[in-house]
Parts: sequence; C-alpha cells; structure tokens
Amino acid sequence: MRWDAVVIGAGPAGAVCAREMARGGARVLLLDRAHFPRPKVCGCCVNGSAIGTLARLGLSDVLAHAVPLREVALARGSRGARVPLPAGVALSREAFDTALVERAARAGAEFRPGTSAKLEGELRRANVVVLATGLVGNDGAPEPGSRIGAGAQVPAADVPDFYANGTIFMATGCGGYVGLVRVEDGRLDIAAAFDAHFVRASGSLGAAATAVLRETGWPVPANLADLNWKGTPALTRRAKQLAGERWFAVGDAAGYVEPFTGEGMAWAVASAAALAPIALRAARAWHPRFVREWEAAHRRTIGARQRTCKLVSRVLRSPTLTALAVRALGVVPALARPVVSRLNRSPVLTKVGA
Ligand SMILES: Cc1cc2nc3c(=O)[nH]c(=O)nc-3n(C[C@H](O)[C@H](O)[C@H](O)COP(=O)(O)OP(=O)(O)OC[C@H]3O[C@@H](n4cnc5c(N)ncnc54)[C@H](O)[C@@H]3O)c2cc1C
Repeated sequence: MRWDAVVIGAGPAGAVCAREMARGGARVLLLDRAHFPRPKVCGCCVNGSAIGTLARLGLSDVLAHAVPLREVALARGSRGARVPLPAGVALSREAFDTALVERAARAGAEFRPGTSAKLEGELRRANVVVLATGLVGNDGAPEPGSRIGAGAQVPAADVPDFYANGTIFMATGCGGYVGLVRVEDGRLDIAAAFDAHFVRASGSLGAAATAVLRETGWPVPANLADLNWKGTPALTRRAKQLAGERWFAVGDAAGYVEPFTGEGMAWAVASAAALAPIALRAARAWHPRFVREWEAAHRRTIGARQRTCKLVSRVLRSPTLTALAVRALGVVPALARPVVSRLNRSPVLTKVGA
C-alpha cells in the first residue's frame, strides 16, 4: 500500500502531526520502535503554551488526569525561591504519549508499534515522510559543552513528603540541575541535565543527582542512586536539515535546547500542528518550495522560544549568576513573571488543510 504520509516516531510531535494529517484526509502510517506505554526521560511538565495548543487542537482531554502545577521551587546551595506558575500540569509520559497516539489512531492514522524505520526505506512507500524520531534521530552535532539528560522515577511509597503535589522542584548545582515533580499516580518523576564530566566524576547518573540534591539540602529519596536511571545523548543540537525532498523533521529530531524551562513538549506539539498543513499539501504534490516553507514556519512557531531557553541555560552555566537569580527571586518572586508568562503563551496555529 502507498501512504500519503509515513510518520516515524510516535512521541508528541509524531502523534500530533499524524493526527492532524489524518484529520486533513491523508492516509497516514505512524510507526514507533517502542511499544506503548513507554517511558521517556522527561520532566513531565506540560506548560501553559502546550495546554493552549492542545486545547486549540481539541485535545484537552488527554490531560484529564494530570496534576495541576502551582509553583516552581528553585534552589541553589542553601538559598531558595518559590515562583508562582500561571498554568501547567504534570503528567507521566506513559500516560501523555499513549493518549496522543490513541487520538491519532482515532482520527484514522494506522499505528504500528515495535517498528524501527529509516527515512530512505519509508520514502519508497509514502508521498512524504515525517521524521519525529526525537533526540536520538537528530543528526546535528551537539553544541560544544552541551549537557546530557537523565531520568528516573521514585515509586509513590518512597517519595519524601517534602515533594508535594503541584510544585516543580528544581535543584541547581555545580555540575547540572535536577527537576522533581509528582505525576498523576503519585510517583516522583526526576529529570536532570548534567555536564558529562560531572557524571563521570560522580560515578553514575544516580550519584550525580544525589550530589546536586545534597548541595541544596533537599531530601534525597531512598535508593535514589540505585533507581533505573536512563540517559540521553547530548541535548542542545540542531538537525543538519529541517527538510529535504519529500521529507520533514519535527520535534526534537529538528532541534532541541536543554530542558531547564521545560518546554520541549510545547515545541513538539506546536511545531507538529504547524507542519501538518504543509505536509498535507506536499503529500498531494511535492514541490521544493515546501522545504523553505517549513523552515520559515518552524522559525516562526518556536524560533524565539528556543532562543529564550538558550539564554536561560547560559545564565545557569554561571554559578554566580544562578546564585544571584535565586537570591533575587527569593526576595521578589514576581521578577520571574515576564519570563514565566512568555513561556506559557500559546503560539499562533495555521488551520489544518490550509
Ligand atoms: C531531562 C529532560 C527533561 C525534560 N523535561 C521536559 C518538561 O518538563 N516539559 C517538556 O515540555 N519537555 C521536557 N523535555 C523535552 C521533551 O521530553 C521532548 O522535547 C519531547 O519529548 C519531544 O517530543 P518528540 O515527539 O520530538 O520526541 P520523543 O518524545 O523523544 O519521541 C520520539 C519517538 O521516536 C521513536 N523513534 C526514534 N527512532 C525511531 C526509529 N528509527 N523508528 C521508529 N521510531 C523511532 C522513539 O521510540 C520515540 O517514541 C525534557 C527533556 C529532557 C531530556
């Protein structure tokens, strides 16, 4: 069978793009090498921008069981600050991604889990291919000094009471930062970004997380170092190309900036929604101008957001600036308001099929 589109990767970017293309009338095959529900190294925080995009796509119900977020607790050494959040929820990636895949299938996309795929192979049986393969599928060189990601989950019964529902805990230290949040089933999701040499010096991902938490004096969950830690490749990178003849890259496969501001899923769903109308037209009749069109739409949808995130990450690299920022926010939490509201604003979306 010849498909209008094959979407490789069923994370938020792939699932949303497949759904929108299927809703636009295309015959869509959605592939993922994993079986769902599958875990993913992620802070599991869906910000106001992502919530807005999902609402406009008619997908608010995927967040039905999510935990509403009220604030971010920041710590650097013994200093701390609490910054109120205007929006945001926490939801495990097992629940979020499975729900989005289910919505893609409901819209008519055929989903095949447990299927590893390559661009060249899929181009033979599809008019267009969407690469939504995440960070592992991003072929760009990482930025020099880029941090690596790490994640693990603490079972609900072992979570110290300190880590209350509705708060994102962000511990920053010399070798990186560790984010902790409770998800819908009471588990504590831990997601971190570390300098590679800090992990080597600490001995393991779990030991690195323990060291950062100890610097802040926050409770270290029992057996933290022995949890089932998973790592990621170097985080900050741009794909060599965003598109080529009859293919497009979207989500982390197109580009990613390290996760302190917790926006990757917002970028993924917004850019997938922006890509769908372009890919639909490209599936009907390919023209090289679609490459430029996607580059421009990608820049418009998330370019400025990724630049803000990069700026915040740079500040975090300086221990002095981080300490100053946490100290200032400890006294006047409202100082964070411009950045926080910018991060939570929804991008403008083009109508599917346009
Ligand atoms: C430490 C850390 C913390 C983060 N915290 C947050 C946060 O709190 N909030 C937030 O919004 N974002 C966060 N992010 C970012 C977020 O996880 C990603 O930006 C988001 O998952 C990107 O979605 P995606 O669909 O592009 O890729 P993914 O979610 O990675 O999905 C890619 C899919 O492609 C599949 N795949 C890969 N290769 C193939 C292949 N060859 N064939 C078939 N399938 C394939 C994979 O199995 C996977 O299911 C964090 C990231 C990290 C590393």
